Amino acid sequence: MPRVIEAAVPGFSVQGCLSKMAATLPSCQDQPVIYHLRAGEHRIALNERIGEPLSLRWTGAIACTHCGRATKKSFAQGHCYPCFKRLAQCDTCIMKPETCHYFQGTCREPEWGERHCFQPHIVYLANSSGLKVGITRKTQMPTRWLDQGAIQALPILEVDTRQQSGFVEMLFKQQVADRTNWRAMLKGDVVTMDLSAERDCLLNQLADGLNQLRETHGSDSIRTLEAPPQHFHYPVSVFPKKWSRIILTSSHWWKACCKASKGSI
Ligand SMILES: [Zn+2]
Repeated sequence: MPRVIEAAVPGFSVQGCLSKMAATLPSCQDQPVIYHLRAGEHRIALNERIGEPLSLRWTGAIACTHCGRATKKSFAQGHCYPCFKRLAQCDTCIMKPETCHYFQGTCREPEWGERHCFQPHIVYLANSSGLKVGITRKTQMPTRWLDQGAIQALPILEVDTRQQSGFVEMLFKQQVADRTNWRAMLKGDVVTMDLSAERDCLLNQLADGLNQLRETHGSDSIRTLEAPPQHFHYPVSVFPKKWSRIILTSSHWWKACCKASKGSI
């Protein structure tokens, strides 16, 4: 990704670079998440087309998600090789925030790092195929949860930097998974959980570790949140019984749609 694709629905077709599907919350929490397919400048509303045919055809071209140049192969989710080597967003510390090396003076793009990594981050619990822990920039809620197909999410801690969120996540990973079992999720039999109770239990279990982090980074560096859990509903007409293909994007639910019907929904 982003591959240049041709997307066709009854009545018209569009062509452009395929981006991660846009997922937005409905105005009413009981309504399903709203999806749009994005191909270049085009956006196709998908909820209203569930049950209708949709064909995707890759033209064979790949364009760098950052600079737009043509590339035969994509790196780090859609970058050309020069961007992959040059950009801070392609560095391994983005996937492993606890390895941030900004203060060693080796950040590839210090100004980008200051904007992206030195801002409030949230540590959350989510239920996508069971309990998981995750981190995200504060501004990425709830997009991050929708991308993961979570049916519930609960922000539990706020920290000042991405690196601090990495340290906290490492601590929580001693007790909780940080991955989604997408096969289990696609079956649609995820059981709702009491995330507030899970939070209270984990904060109790990990109190010593959190206090050690506060001693290192400042007493106010890790702040407990009291937000209520959020619930999400997805526009699924039938959960797939089996699937055989993964195509093109990182959205679990988009994979679900494509796998369910081998490329057409
Ligand atoms: Zn590039």
